[in-house]
Amino acid sequence: MGDSVMYDSPTEFLHEAANSGDLCVAQSVLPDDDGTYTVSCSCERWMANAPSMEEGLRPARVHTGSQR
Ligand SMILES: [Zn+2]
Repeated sequence: MGDSVMYDSPTEFLHEAANSGDLCVAQSVLPDDDGTYTVSCSCERWMANAPSMEEGLRPARVHTGSQR
């Protein structure tokens, strides 16, 4: 029973799928109770506060690197 050696461990693939949750693929601007907006990212490691929805999009673009 040495034939199963040809199969690689699927660990690498699973690791890659798990990492996709850390990518900055989507940003959201959500209204807060105090009238400001909370900007968050799909990487869940970034968050900002903005006075309006449009103002919140700017730091989100800077965060993802699509605009300086
Ligand atoms: Zn991000």
